[in-house]
Amino acid sequence: KGPDPDLVSIVERMATVKHKILVLSGKGGVGKSTFSAQLSFALASMDFQVGLLDIDICGPSIPKMLGLEGQEIHQSNLGWSPVYVESNLGVMSIGFMLPNPDDAVIWRGPRKNGIIKQFLKDVYWGELDFLIVDAPPGTSDEHISIVQFLQATGIDGAIIVTTPQQVSLIDVRKEVSFCKKVGLPVLGVVENMSGFSQQLSEFKFMNVSASGEQKDMTESVIAYMRENAPEMLNLIAFSEVFDTSGGGGTKMCRDMEVPFLGKVPLDPQLCKAAEEGRSCFVDGKCKVSAPALKAIIDKL
Ligand code: ADP
Repeated sequence: KGPDPDLVSIVERMATVKHKILVLSGKGGVGKSTFSAQLSFALASMDFQVGLLDIDICGPSIPKMLGLEGQEIHQSNLGWSPVYVESNLGVMSIGFMLPNPDDAVIWRGPRKNGIIKQFLKDVYWGELDFLIVDAPPGTSDEHISIVQFLQATGIDGAIIVTTPQQVSLIDVRKEVSFCKKVGLPVLGVVENMSGFSQQLSEFKFMNVSASGEQKDMTESVIAYMRENAPEMLNLIAFSEVFDTSGGGGTKMCRDMEVPFLGKVPLDPQLCKAAEEGRSCFVDGKCKVSAPALKAIIDKL
């Protein structure tokens, strides 16, 4: 039996891509796509040629996070053309192929594998420094096929995104074991939504009575601060959100012998940037989360 022709096409197609990084998570909703999107923005701002491939078939949020909702893919004789945010940041997602963004994609394994294979062999990326692949959560059949295809073309490794609480970390351990089993290097683990951070002036201050009645005191509290200690308004308040008594991602990484890349707090401004399809690195609004993400990216 000769070599798989699809695999041969994938290897040919990927020959113009220098680095390939898979972004994984044990669960959905931990910020995997947000991280993939911001990583792509950051690399593009460093003048790298970047491709972002969204193969989270059942929940393609990448078009929105890159500000590309409603865009369509075009065909050329070279293959499917990615949708470009800028000339050095191209995006490909199943989201571009759904007639209605509210449509659910209910596909079984073989069909999913089919489209993933097609994405890898039919998209014309041209020369890329980085291809960031946003994978579906978990470790399913799709993951095995993605990893097999990418390994045949030489993949750098995987970044795993998690939240700090136990229930999430259990799944991450499975994810790390999966990577070890299939021989995929783990570049590191990102602990997202690690605590909450926001500038004091953006909080609401409520007086809550014994019966639970709430009175909004924000205006008077802000006025008081402005009068008496205006510098306080620029303070950033932090708080833990999840129970991290189990040691969080740091301990899990020590146990599993994989690198811990850093923590990114829950930051409403980061959520806003993601919702609006913007880079969090440009306007200085993501005061804690953007530098945290930047420090993680610099470690890669
Ligand atoms: P996943 O890809 O793991 O399913 P998403 O990246 O879609 O998760 O994130 C889920 C939601 O949480 C999105 O609305 C996203 O903007 C938000 N989010 C992710 N990380 C953060 C963060 N650090 N601070 C605030 N919101 C975040």
